[in-house]
Amino acid sequence: MLPSATLGPALGLSHSYQSLPAHFYSRLPPEPVSKPEMVLLNEPLAHALGWESDLLWRFGAQWFSGNLLPPDASPIALAYAGDQFGQFVPQLGDGRAILLGEVIDRQGRRQDVQLKGSGRTPYSRRGDGRAWLGPVLREYLVSEAMFALGVPTSRSLAVVTSGDPVFREQVLPGAVLTRVAASHIRVGTLQYFAARNDWPGVRQLLDYTLRRHYPEWQERDKPACSLLQAVIRQQAQLIARWLQVGFIHGVMNTDNTALSGETIDYGPCAFMDHYDPSTVFSSIDHWGRYAYGNQPAIAAWNMWRMAEALLPLLETEQPGKGKRIMQEMLALFPELLQENWLQGMRAKLGLSGKDPADAQLIERLLECMYRGRADYTLTLRRLAEVLLTGAEGEAAWCAGFRDPLAARRWLAEWLAVVRRDGPDDALRANAMNAVNPLYIPRNYLLENALSAAVEQGEWQPYRQLYQVLQTPFQQQEGQDTFSQPPPATWGEYQTFCGT
Ligand code: AMP
Ligand code: MG
Repeated sequence: MLPSATLGPALGLSHSYQSLPAHFYSRLPPEPVSKPEMVLLNEPLAHALGWESDLLWRFGAQWFSGNLLPPDASPIALAYAGDQFGQFVPQLGDGRAILLGEVIDRQGRRQDVQLKGSGRTPYSRRGDGRAWLGPVLREYLVSEAMFALGVPTSRSLAVVTSGDPVFREQVLPGAVLTRVAASHIRVGTLQYFAARNDWPGVRQLLDYTLRRHYPEWQERDKPACSLLQAVIRQQAQLIARWLQVGFIHGVMNTDNTALSGETIDYGPCAFMDHYDPSTVFSSIDHWGRYAYGNQPAIAAWNMWRMAEALLPLLETEQPGKGKRIMQEMLALFPELLQENWLQGMRAKLGLSGKDPADAQLIERLLECMYRGRADYTLTLRRLAEVLLTGAEGEAAWCAGFRDPLAARRWLAEWLAVVRRDGPDDALRANAMNAVNPLYIPRNYLLENALSAAVEQGEWQPYRQLYQVLQTPFQQQEGQDTFSQPPPATWGEYQTFCGT
Protein backbone atom coordinates (compact mmCIF):
# COMPACT_ATOMS: atom_id res chain seq x y z
CA MET A 1 0.00 0.00 0.00
CA LEU A 2 1.23 3.50 -0.82
CA PRO A 3 1.45 6.07 1.94
CA SER A 4 -1.30 8.65 1.94
CA ALA A 5 -0.90 12.07 0.37
CA THR A 6 0.81 14.63 2.54
CA LEU A 7 -0.11 18.06 3.83
CA GLY A 8 1.70 20.92 5.52
CA PRO A 9 5.22 21.11 6.87
CA ALA A 10 7.34 18.34 8.37
CA LEU A 11 6.96 17.72 12.12
CA GLY A 12 10.48 16.50 12.84
CA LEU A 13 9.38 12.85 12.97
CA SER A 14 11.93 10.05 13.02
CA HIS A 15 11.48 6.30 12.77
CA SER A 16 13.89 4.37 14.94
CA TYR A 17 11.49 1.41 15.25
CA GLN A 18 11.87 0.88 11.51
CA SER A 19 15.54 0.07 12.05
CA LEU A 20 14.18 -3.26 13.34
CA PRO A 21 13.50 -6.09 10.84
CA ALA A 22 10.52 -5.75 8.52
CA HIS A 23 8.52 -8.52 10.24
CA PHE A 24 8.27 -6.39 13.40
CA TYR A 25 5.60 -4.24 11.78
CA SER A 26 3.49 -3.62 8.69
CA ARG A 27 3.81 -0.55 6.60
CA LEU A 28 0.48 0.98 5.68
CA PRO A 29 -1.35 4.29 5.77
CA PRO A 30 -4.36 5.02 7.98
CA GLU A 31 -7.77 4.57 6.33
CA PRO A 32 -9.33 7.92 5.44
CA VAL A 33 -12.43 9.22 7.21
CA SER A 34 -15.31 11.26 5.76
CA LYS A 35 -15.40 14.50 7.66
CA PRO A 36 -12.54 15.00 10.09
CA GLU A 37 -12.94 17.66 12.73
CA MET A 38 -10.49 18.27 15.55
CA VAL A 39 -12.50 18.63 18.73
CA LEU A 40 -9.69 18.55 21.30
CA LEU A 41 -6.06 19.57 21.18
CA ASN A 42 -3.77 19.28 24.17
CA GLU A 43 -1.82 22.50 23.77
CA PRO A 44 0.56 22.04 26.72
CA LEU A 45 1.49 18.61 25.39
CA ALA A 46 1.93 19.98 21.86
CA HIS A 47 4.29 22.55 23.34
CA ALA A 48 6.21 19.88 25.26
CA LEU A 49 6.69 18.04 21.97
CA GLY A 50 8.05 21.19 20.39
CA TRP A 51 5.03 21.87 18.17
CA GLU A 52 3.17 25.16 17.72
CA SER A 53 -0.48 24.70 18.57
CA ASP A 54 -1.46 27.11 15.75
CA LEU A 55 0.10 24.71 13.30
CA LEU A 56 -1.71 21.75 14.83
CA TRP A 57 -5.04 23.60 14.78
CA ARG A 58 -4.45 24.38 11.14
CA PHE A 59 -3.54 20.86 9.95
CA GLY A 60 -4.61 18.65 12.87
CA ALA A 61 -7.97 17.55 11.48
CA GLN A 62 -6.23 16.05 8.43
CA TRP A 63 -3.08 14.85 10.18
CA PHE A 64 -4.73 13.33 13.23
CA SER A 65 -7.53 11.64 11.32
CA GLY A 66 -4.88 10.12 9.09
CA ASN A 67 -6.45 11.55 5.92
CA LEU A 68 -3.36 13.54 4.94
CA LEU A 69 -0.11 13.10 6.80
CA PRO A 70 2.81 15.41 7.53
CA PRO A 71 5.50 14.72 4.89
CA ASP A 72 7.88 13.06 7.36
CA ALA A 73 5.33 10.57 8.73
CA SER A 74 6.04 6.93 7.89
CA PRO A 75 3.00 5.03 9.08
CA ILE A 76 3.31 1.49 10.46
CA ALA A 77 1.28 -0.93 12.58
CA LEU A 78 3.26 -2.92 15.17
CA ALA A 79 3.13 -6.68 15.61
CA TYR A 80 2.67 -8.14 19.09
CA ALA A 81 1.11 -11.06 20.92
CA GLY A 82 -0.28 -11.26 24.45
CA ASP A 83 -1.95 -13.13 27.23
CA GLN A 84 -5.54 -11.98 27.33
CA PHE A 85 -7.28 -12.90 30.60
CA GLY A 86 -4.68 -15.62 31.01
CA GLN A 87 -4.99 -17.06 27.49
CA PHE A 88 -2.03 -16.69 25.19
CA VAL A 89 -2.89 -15.23 21.77
CA PRO A 90 0.15 -15.51 19.48
CA GLN A 91 -0.99 -12.84 17.06
CA LEU A 92 -2.51 -9.54 18.13
CA GLY A 93 -0.80 -6.32 17.00
CA ASP A 94 -2.04 -2.82 16.26
CA GLY A 95 -5.48 -3.74 14.94
CA ARG A 96 -6.72 -0.18 14.98
CA ALA A 97 -3.66 1.94 15.51
CA ILE A 98 -0.96 3.43 13.34
CA LEU A 99 2.37 4.79 14.48
CA LEU A 100 3.08 7.98 12.54
CA GLY A 101 6.61 8.27 13.87
CA GLU A 102 8.63 9.41 16.83
CA VAL A 103 9.46 12.89 18.00
CA ILE A 104 12.17 14.03 20.40
CA ASP A 105 10.41 16.22 22.94
CA ARG A 106 11.78 19.39 24.55
CA GLN A 107 13.33 17.31 27.31
CA GLY A 108 15.18 15.19 24.77
CA ARG A 109 12.99 12.11 25.21
CA ARG A 110 11.86 10.06 22.23
CA GLN A 111 8.07 9.82 22.06
CA ASP A 112 5.82 7.74 19.80
CA VAL A 113 3.00 9.56 18.05
CA GLN A 114 0.23 7.11 17.30
CA LEU A 115 -3.27 7.30 15.88
CA LYS A 116 -5.79 5.03 17.58
CA GLY A 117 -9.00 4.22 15.72
CA SER A 118 -7.35 4.84 12.35
CA GLY A 119 -8.78 1.91 10.40
CA ARG A 120 -8.05 -1.70 9.60
CA THR A 121 -4.55 -3.17 9.55
CA PRO A 122 -3.17 -6.67 8.91
CA TYR A 123 -3.64 -7.23 12.68
CA SER A 124 -7.32 -6.27 12.84
CA ARG A 125 -8.64 -9.85 12.89
CA ARG A 126 -12.45 -9.41 12.94
CA GLY A 127 -12.33 -5.81 14.14
CA ASP A 128 -13.25 -2.74 12.11
CA GLY A 129 -10.12 -0.82 13.09
CA ARG A 130 -12.19 1.98 14.50
CA ALA A 131 -12.91 3.65 17.82
CA TRP A 132 -15.93 5.66 18.84
CA LEU A 133 -16.05 9.00 20.54
CA GLY A 134 -17.02 7.85 24.08
CA PRO A 135 -13.95 5.67 24.81
CA VAL A 136 -11.69 8.11 22.96
CA LEU A 137 -12.79 10.99 25.20
CA ARG A 138 -12.49 8.71 28.20
CA GLU A 139 -8.87 7.79 27.38
CA TYR A 140 -8.03 11.43 26.63
CA LEU A 141 -9.33 12.60 29.98
CA VAL A 142 -8.20 9.71 32.18
CA SER A 143 -4.68 9.53 30.75
CA GLU A 144 -4.21 13.27 31.23
CA ALA A 145 -5.64 13.03 34.75
CA MET A 146 -3.14 10.26 35.51
CA PHE A 147 -0.35 12.46 34.19
CA ALA A 148 -1.45 15.31 36.45
CA LEU A 149 -1.50 12.84 39.35
CA GLY A 150 2.13 12.06 38.63
CA VAL A 151 1.54 8.49 37.41
CA PRO A 152 3.72 7.36 34.46
CA THR A 153 1.37 7.20 31.48
CA SER A 154 0.86 7.55 27.77
CA ARG A 155 -0.57 10.98 26.95
CA SER A 156 -3.32 12.26 24.68
CA LEU A 157 -2.61 14.92 22.12
CA ALA A 158 -5.79 15.27 20.10
CA VAL A 159 -9.25 13.96 19.36
CA VAL A 160 -10.62 14.12 15.83
CA THR A 161 -14.18 13.09 15.08
CA SER A 162 -14.43 11.19 11.82
CA GLY A 163 -17.94 11.96 10.63
CA ASP A 164 -18.37 8.21 10.10
CA PRO A 165 -20.61 5.86 12.03
CA VAL A 166 -19.06 3.08 14.09
CA PHE A 167 -21.18 -0.01 14.52
CA ARG A 168 -21.21 -1.63 17.96
CA GLU A 169 -24.45 -2.67 19.67
CA GLN A 170 -25.62 0.70 18.43
CA VAL A 171 -24.51 3.14 15.76
CA LEU A 172 -22.01 5.50 17.34
CA PRO A 173 -19.93 8.51 16.24
CA GLY A 174 -16.41 7.56 15.16
CA ALA A 175 -13.27 9.29 16.43
CA VAL A 176 -9.49 9.00 16.33
CA LEU A 177 -7.25 9.59 19.33
CA THR A 178 -3.69 10.80 18.91
CA ARG A 179 -1.67 9.13 21.61
CA VAL A 180 1.85 9.97 22.70
CA ALA A 181 3.90 7.38 24.60
CA ALA A 182 7.51 6.66 25.51
CA SER A 183 6.99 3.69 23.18
CA HIS A 184 4.41 1.04 22.37
CA ILE A 185 6.67 -1.93 23.07
CA ARG A 186 4.80 -4.39 25.25
CA VAL A 187 5.51 -7.60 27.15
CA GLY A 188 3.42 -9.05 24.34
CA THR A 189 5.90 -7.74 21.76
CA LEU A 190 8.63 -9.93 23.29
CA GLN A 191 6.16 -12.80 23.45
CA TYR A 192 5.35 -12.41 19.75
CA PHE A 193 8.89 -13.34 18.73
CA ALA A 194 9.44 -15.87 21.52
CA ALA A 195 6.28 -17.74 20.47
CA ARG A 196 7.78 -18.07 16.97
CA ASN A 197 11.14 -19.22 18.33
CA ASP A 198 12.52 -16.14 16.65
CA TRP A 199 15.38 -15.65 19.11
CA PRO A 200 17.27 -13.21 16.91
CA GLY A 201 14.03 -11.19 16.90
CA VAL A 202 13.75 -11.29 20.69
CA ARG A 203 17.38 -10.25 20.92
CA GLN A 204 16.95 -7.33 18.52
CA LEU A 205 13.86 -6.10 20.33
CA LEU A 206 15.63 -6.44 23.63
CA ASP A 207 18.64 -4.42 22.49
CA TYR A 208 16.39 -1.77 21.00
CA THR A 209 14.29 -1.53 24.18
CA LEU A 210 17.34 -1.24 26.41
CA ARG A 211 18.80 1.49 24.22
CA ARG A 212 15.55 3.39 24.12
CA HIS A 213 14.31 3.06 27.68
CA TYR A 214 17.08 1.86 29.92
CA PRO A 215 20.39 3.06 28.49
CA GLU A 216 21.85 3.04 32.00
CA TRP A 217 21.13 -0.74 32.19
CA GLN A 218 23.02 -1.64 29.05
CA GLU A 219 25.42 -4.17 30.45
CA ARG A 220 26.77 -5.47 27.20
CA ASP A 221 27.22 -9.09 28.22
CA LYS A 222 23.85 -9.62 29.95
CA PRO A 223 21.17 -7.64 28.15
CA ALA A 224 18.30 -10.07 28.84
CA CYS A 225 19.04 -10.02 32.53
CA SER A 226 19.30 -6.21 32.49
CA LEU A 227 16.01 -5.73 30.68
CA LEU A 228 14.14 -8.09 32.96
CA GLN A 229 15.50 -6.37 36.02
CA ALA A 230 14.79 -2.88 34.68
CA VAL A 231 11.22 -3.68 33.66
CA ILE A 232 10.48 -5.42 36.95
CA ARG A 233 11.67 -2.34 38.83
CA GLN A 234 9.63 0.00 36.68
CA GLN A 235 6.50 -2.13 36.81
CA ALA A 236 6.70 -2.39 40.60
CA GLN A 237 6.83 1.40 40.78
CA LEU A 238 3.94 1.79 38.40
CA ILE A 239 1.57 -0.62 40.12
CA ALA A 240 2.37 0.96 43.49
CA ARG A 241 1.33 4.32 42.02
CA TRP A 242 -1.92 2.86 40.68
CA LEU A 243 -2.77 1.47 44.10
CA GLN A 244 -1.96 4.75 45.79
CA VAL A 245 -4.37 6.74 43.60
CA GLY A 246 -7.08 4.06 43.55
CA PHE A 247 -6.72 3.31 39.84
CA ILE A 248 -7.99 0.08 38.32
CA HIS A 249 -6.63 -0.58 34.83
CA GLY A 250 -9.23 -3.19 34.03
CA VAL A 251 -7.37 -5.11 31.27
CA MET A 252 -3.90 -5.91 32.55
CA ASN A 253 -3.16 -8.29 29.71
CA THR A 254 0.48 -8.69 28.71
CA ASP A 255 -0.28 -6.88 25.46
CA ASN A 256 -1.33 -3.89 27.55
CA THR A 257 1.85 -3.90 29.66
CA ALA A 258 4.41 -1.46 28.28
CA LEU A 259 8.09 -2.22 28.77
CA SER A 260 8.65 1.51 29.34
CA GLY A 261 6.72 1.26 32.62
CA GLU A 262 4.01 3.66 31.49
CA THR A 263 0.30 3.04 31.88
CA ILE A 264 -1.06 2.29 28.41
CA ASP A 265 -4.25 1.14 26.70
CA TYR A 266 -6.94 2.84 28.68
CA GLY A 267 -10.10 0.84 28.17
CA PRO A 268 -12.53 -0.08 30.90
CA CYS A 269 -10.31 1.54 33.54
CA ALA A 270 -11.81 3.43 36.46
CA PHE A 271 -11.04 4.91 39.86
CA MET A 272 -12.33 3.31 43.03
CA ASP A 273 -14.66 5.37 45.23
CA HIS A 274 -15.05 3.61 48.60
CA TYR A 275 -12.13 1.42 49.50
CA ASP A 276 -12.66 -2.22 48.57
CA PRO A 277 -9.85 -4.37 47.15
CA SER A 278 -12.35 -6.54 45.27
CA THR A 279 -13.59 -3.59 43.21
CA VAL A 280 -14.05 -4.47 39.53
CA PHE A 281 -15.76 -2.19 37.03
CA SER A 282 -15.12 -3.89 33.71
CA SER A 283 -18.16 -5.68 32.31
CA ILE A 284 -15.99 -8.40 30.78
CA ASP A 285 -13.96 -9.14 33.92
CA HIS A 286 -16.37 -11.73 35.25
CA TRP A 287 -14.06 -13.32 37.80
CA GLY A 288 -12.42 -10.16 39.03
CA ARG A 289 -9.04 -11.16 37.60
CA TYR A 290 -8.16 -7.48 37.29
CA ALA A 291 -9.79 -6.28 40.53
CA TYR A 292 -8.09 -3.38 42.34
CA GLY A 293 -6.44 -5.58 44.95
CA ASN A 294 -5.38 -8.22 42.42
CA GLN A 295 -3.26 -5.84 40.41
CA PRO A 296 0.03 -6.64 42.20
CA ALA A 297 -0.45 -10.38 41.69
CA ILE A 298 -1.41 -9.91 38.05
CA ALA A 299 1.55 -7.64 37.41
CA ALA A 300 3.77 -10.35 38.92
CA TRP A 301 2.11 -12.92 36.65
CA ASN A 302 2.79 -10.65 33.66
CA MET A 303 6.43 -10.33 34.69
CA TRP A 304 6.65 -14.15 34.71
CA ARG A 305 5.38 -14.19 31.14
CA MET A 306 8.03 -11.66 30.19
CA ALA A 307 10.73 -13.69 31.90
CA GLU A 308 9.62 -16.83 30.05
CA ALA A 309 9.94 -15.02 26.74
CA LEU A 310 13.49 -14.09 27.71
CA LEU A 311 14.47 -17.41 29.28
CA PRO A 312 16.44 -18.88 26.36
CA LEU A 313 18.46 -15.67 26.19
CA LEU A 314 18.98 -15.63 29.96
CA GLU A 315 20.24 -19.18 29.61
CA THR A 316 22.61 -18.23 26.78
CA GLU A 317 23.94 -15.35 28.85
CA GLN A 318 24.60 -17.48 31.90
CA PRO A 319 24.58 -21.15 30.87
CA GLY A 320 22.98 -23.48 33.39
CA LYS A 321 21.68 -20.56 35.48
CA GLY A 322 18.89 -19.00 33.38
CA LYS A 323 15.99 -20.48 35.30
CA ARG A 324 17.46 -19.68 38.69
CA ILE A 325 18.21 -16.09 37.74
CA MET A 326 14.72 -15.66 36.43
CA GLN A 327 13.22 -17.03 39.64
CA GLU A 328 15.42 -14.88 41.83
CA MET A 329 14.53 -11.74 39.96
CA LEU A 330 10.83 -12.47 39.94
CA ALA A 331 10.91 -13.21 43.64
CA LEU A 332 11.99 -9.60 44.13
CA PHE A 333 8.92 -8.16 42.43
CA PRO A 334 6.45 -8.38 45.34
CA GLU A 335 9.05 -6.92 47.69
CA LEU A 336 9.84 -4.06 45.35
CA LEU A 337 6.18 -3.32 44.91
CA GLN A 338 5.55 -3.40 48.64
CA GLU A 339 8.52 -1.10 49.25
CA ASN A 340 7.31 1.39 46.67
CA TRP A 341 3.80 1.22 47.98
CA LEU A 342 4.84 1.66 51.58
CA GLN A 343 7.02 4.62 50.76
CA GLY A 344 4.14 6.34 48.94
CA MET A 345 1.59 5.50 51.62
CA ARG A 346 3.88 6.82 54.35
CA ALA A 347 3.98 10.13 52.54
CA LYS A 348 0.20 10.11 52.15
CA LEU A 349 -0.23 9.58 55.87
CA GLY A 350 2.41 12.13 56.78
CA LEU A 351 4.67 9.51 58.34
CA SER A 352 8.13 10.94 58.01
CA GLY A 353 10.16 8.17 59.61
CA LYS A 354 10.74 4.57 58.60
CA ASP A 355 9.12 2.86 61.55
CA PRO A 356 8.44 -0.81 60.74
CA ALA A 357 5.10 -0.40 62.55
CA ASP A 358 3.94 2.04 59.81
CA ALA A 359 2.86 -0.82 57.55
CA GLN A 360 0.40 -2.09 60.14
CA LEU A 361 -0.89 1.39 60.86
CA ILE A 362 -1.60 1.84 57.15
CA GLU A 363 -3.18 -1.61 56.84
CA ARG A 364 -5.43 -0.86 59.80
CA LEU A 365 -6.62 2.34 58.14
CA LEU A 366 -7.43 0.43 54.97
CA GLU A 367 -9.30 -2.18 56.98
CA CYS A 368 -11.22 0.61 58.68
CA MET A 369 -12.03 2.18 55.31
CA TYR A 370 -13.16 -1.16 53.95
CA ARG A 371 -15.45 -1.93 56.87
CA GLY A 372 -16.65 1.64 57.05
CA ARG A 373 -17.18 1.93 53.24
CA ALA A 374 -15.15 5.11 53.41
CA ASP A 375 -14.15 6.99 50.28
CA TYR A 376 -10.51 6.17 49.54
CA THR A 377 -9.48 9.52 48.05
CA LEU A 378 -11.28 11.81 50.48
CA THR A 379 -10.36 9.84 53.58
CA LEU A 380 -6.70 10.32 52.76
CA ARG A 381 -7.07 13.90 51.62
CA ARG A 382 -8.96 15.00 54.69
CA LEU A 383 -6.44 13.52 57.06
CA ALA A 384 -4.36 16.69 56.71
CA GLU A 385 -7.33 18.80 57.77
CA VAL A 386 -7.52 16.89 61.03
CA LEU A 387 -4.08 18.21 61.88
CA LEU A 388 -5.19 21.77 61.29
CA THR A 389 -8.73 21.86 62.63
CA GLY A 390 -8.66 19.86 65.86
CA ALA A 391 -11.84 18.32 67.28
CA GLU A 392 -14.04 19.67 64.49
CA GLY A 393 -11.82 18.14 61.84
CA GLU A 394 -11.69 14.84 63.70
CA ALA A 395 -15.46 14.60 63.82
CA ALA A 396 -15.75 15.46 60.14
CA TRP A 397 -13.15 12.86 59.20
CA CYS A 398 -14.81 10.13 61.25
CA ALA A 399 -18.18 10.94 59.72
CA GLY A 400 -16.86 9.55 56.44
CA PHE A 401 -17.02 6.04 57.91
CA ARG A 402 -20.04 3.89 58.59
CA ASP A 403 -18.42 3.03 61.88
CA PRO A 404 -17.12 6.36 63.20
CA LEU A 405 -15.99 4.81 66.49
CA ALA A 406 -13.46 2.50 64.85
CA ALA A 407 -12.27 5.43 62.75
CA ARG A 408 -11.82 7.52 65.87
CA ARG A 409 -9.70 4.82 67.49
CA TRP A 410 -7.46 4.66 64.45
CA LEU A 411 -7.21 8.43 64.29
CA ALA A 412 -6.03 8.68 67.91
CA GLU A 413 -3.35 6.12 67.16
CA TRP A 414 -2.24 7.98 64.04
CA LEU A 415 -2.16 11.37 65.76
CA ALA A 416 0.06 9.94 68.46
CA VAL A 417 2.46 8.60 65.83
CA VAL A 418 2.67 11.72 63.63
CA ARG A 419 3.07 14.09 66.55
CA ARG A 420 5.85 12.04 68.05
CA ASP A 421 8.44 13.72 65.87
CA GLY A 422 9.03 15.64 62.66
CA PRO A 423 7.93 19.06 61.41
CA ASP A 424 4.97 20.99 62.68
CA ASP A 425 1.36 20.33 61.73
CA ALA A 426 1.09 22.99 59.04
CA LEU A 427 4.18 21.73 57.23
CA ARG A 428 3.04 18.16 57.53
CA ALA A 429 -0.44 19.00 56.28
CA ASN A 430 1.04 20.78 53.27
CA ALA A 431 3.26 17.85 52.43
CA MET A 432 0.30 15.47 52.72
CA ASN A 433 -1.89 17.62 50.49
CA ALA A 434 0.83 17.53 47.87
CA VAL A 435 0.48 13.75 47.57
CA ASN A 436 -3.20 13.16 48.35
CA PRO A 437 -5.32 14.36 45.44
CA LEU A 438 -8.62 16.08 46.10
CA TYR A 439 -9.91 15.50 42.56
CA ILE A 440 -9.85 12.22 40.65
CA PRO A 441 -11.84 11.28 37.53
CA ARG A 442 -14.73 9.79 39.42
CA ASN A 443 -16.94 7.46 37.45
CA TYR A 444 -20.16 9.39 37.89
CA LEU A 445 -18.52 12.70 36.94
CA LEU A 446 -16.87 11.17 33.91
CA GLU A 447 -20.02 9.40 32.73
CA ASN A 448 -22.08 12.58 33.06
CA ALA A 449 -19.45 14.57 31.19
CA LEU A 450 -19.18 11.94 28.45
CA SER A 451 -22.88 11.58 27.88
CA ALA A 452 -23.32 15.35 27.70
CA ALA A 453 -20.55 15.61 25.11
CA VAL A 454 -21.39 12.52 23.04
CA GLU A 455 -25.18 12.53 23.21
CA GLN A 456 -25.99 16.23 23.46
CA GLY A 457 -22.91 17.83 21.93
CA GLU A 458 -22.64 19.79 25.20
CA TRP A 459 -18.90 20.02 25.91
CA GLN A 460 -18.89 22.29 28.93
CA PRO A 461 -19.07 19.54 31.62
CA TYR A 462 -16.26 17.58 29.95
CA ARG A 463 -14.02 20.63 29.60
CA GLN A 464 -14.72 21.71 33.14
CA LEU A 465 -13.94 18.28 34.58
CA TYR A 466 -10.79 18.08 32.47
CA GLN A 467 -9.71 21.49 33.73
CA VAL A 468 -10.24 20.63 37.39
CA LEU A 469 -8.24 17.42 36.98
CA GLN A 470 -5.23 19.34 35.69
CA THR A 471 -4.34 20.39 39.24
CA PRO A 472 -5.71 17.54 41.34
CA PHE A 473 -3.76 18.39 44.50
CA GLN A 474 -4.89 22.00 44.66
CA GLN A 475 -8.20 22.96 46.22
CA GLN A 476 -10.03 24.99 43.59
CA GLU A 477 -12.52 27.78 44.35
CA GLY A 478 -16.10 26.83 43.55
CA GLN A 479 -15.25 23.30 42.33
CA ASP A 480 -16.46 21.37 45.36
CA THR A 481 -18.81 19.20 43.35
CA PHE A 482 -15.82 17.64 41.57
CA SER A 483 -14.39 16.28 44.80
CA GLN A 484 -17.56 14.62 46.02
CA PRO A 485 -18.11 10.85 46.16
CA PRO A 486 -20.96 9.55 44.01
CA PRO A 487 -24.50 10.29 45.16
CA ALA A 488 -26.32 7.46 46.95
CA THR A 489 -28.47 6.97 43.84
CA TRP A 490 -25.38 6.03 41.83
CA GLY A 491 -25.58 2.24 41.88
CA GLU A 492 -23.32 -0.53 40.67
CA TYR A 493 -21.09 0.82 37.96
CA GLN A 494 -19.78 -0.98 34.89
CA THR A 495 -17.30 0.04 32.25
CA PHE A 496 -17.07 -1.36 28.76
CA CYS A 497 -14.13 -2.12 26.56
CA GLY A 498 -15.21 0.16 23.74
CA THR A 499 -13.57 -2.00 21.09
P1 AMP B 1 -7.42 -3.94 23.56
O1 AMP B 1 -8.38 -4.81 24.31
O2 AMP B 1 -8.01 -2.61 23.16
O3 AMP B 1 -6.12 -3.79 24.25
O4 AMP B 1 -7.16 -4.67 22.18
C1 AMP B 1 -6.71 -5.99 22.08
C2 AMP B 1 -6.39 -6.29 20.64
O5 AMP B 1 -7.54 -6.15 19.82
C3 AMP B 1 -5.33 -5.40 20.01
O6 AMP B 1 -4.60 -6.17 19.11
C4 AMP B 1 -6.16 -4.36 19.29
O7 AMP B 1 -5.46 -3.77 18.23
C5 AMP B 1 -7.31 -5.19 18.80
N1 AMP B 1 -8.53 -4.39 18.61
C6 AMP B 1 -9.28 -3.83 19.56
N2 AMP B 1 -10.32 -3.18 19.01
C7 AMP B 1 -10.23 -3.33 17.69
C8 AMP B 1 -11.02 -2.90 16.57
N3 AMP B 1 -12.12 -2.17 16.72
N4 AMP B 1 -10.58 -3.25 15.35
C9 AMP B 1 -9.48 -3.99 15.17
N5 AMP B 1 -8.72 -4.43 16.17
C10 AMP B 1 -9.08 -4.11 17.42
MG1 MG C 1 -4.36 -3.17 23.97
